[in-house]
Amino acid sequence: MDISPKVRLFVDVPLAVGAPVALEQSQAHYLLHVMRAEIGTPVALFNGQDGEWAARLTATSKRGATLVADRQLRLQQPEPDLWLLFAPVKRARIDIIVEKATELGVSALFPVFTRHTAMTRVNEERLRAIAQEAAEQCERLSVPTVQTAGPLDGLLAGWQGDRRLILLDEGGGGRPIAEALAGQTGGPAAILVGPEGGFAKSELDALRRLSFACPVGLGPRILRADTAVIAALSCYQAMCGDWRTPSGVRS
Ligand code: SAH
Repeated sequence: MDISPKVRLFVDVPLAVGAPVALEQSQAHYLLHVMRAEIGTPVALFNGQDGEWAARLTATSKRGATLVADRQLRLQQPEPDLWLLFAPVKRARIDIIVEKATELGVSALFPVFTRHTAMTRVNEERLRAIAQEAAEQCERLSVPTVQTAGPLDGLLAGWQGDRRLILLDEGGGGRPIAEALAGQTGGPAAILVGPEGGFAKSELDALRRLSFACPVGLGPRILRADTAVIAALSCYQAMCGDWRTPSGVRS
């Protein structure tokens, strides 16, 4: 009988042998009514700290469900310290940015307001739910944090200089990304993508002058912000990040 879990859930509680895990309402609903789990159904759990665990459903109530963790399936692994700074864009595209950045292994997402950012508000809670669902689906052992949206200037004012800022520079002011990343290995990094309206000229000039900034180009075509995010993260992971590990994903 195949008892490998089909459902994988992030839970914000410690995981250890025999640890009981009470699911919140939406996860219980998903498990019981969408996946039709029954008492004894195996479920994989992760919490961003204790690796991945095999658990089973032990109790249900009208609105809730309780699991018990049985054994560890995977150890927690170190992950790239890679942030994504992105100007909020329209709903469908911002959802894509968060989902794809999660699959591509960013550790933190920062919605930042730039001069030409059209959106004025961000629903961080909704973005957190998207990140969590993407992490559950892609077998990550962590969920990236979604920071509160704020002005780009403010974030850069408090920047720690040892974190390289890879600036996606649509103005042609940067080196080709593969050339800029060649020979770099890991270390704290952040990728910054502009809004659909692009960076303002003066803003781009100021960004290029930052000592920790590394302006890069993604070829001769102007990409949509969500495409630029996917392209840049793919290059980074392949050249400096965790795509360099043989066999890739899982132990
Ligand atoms: N409206 C702008 C384009 C903005 S594209 C214009 O026409 O100039 C949105 C963002 O994606 C840009 O701010 C930049 O960060 C990134 N981007 C798009 N194409 C790029 C390219 N070829 N090289 C580097 N960055 C790019």
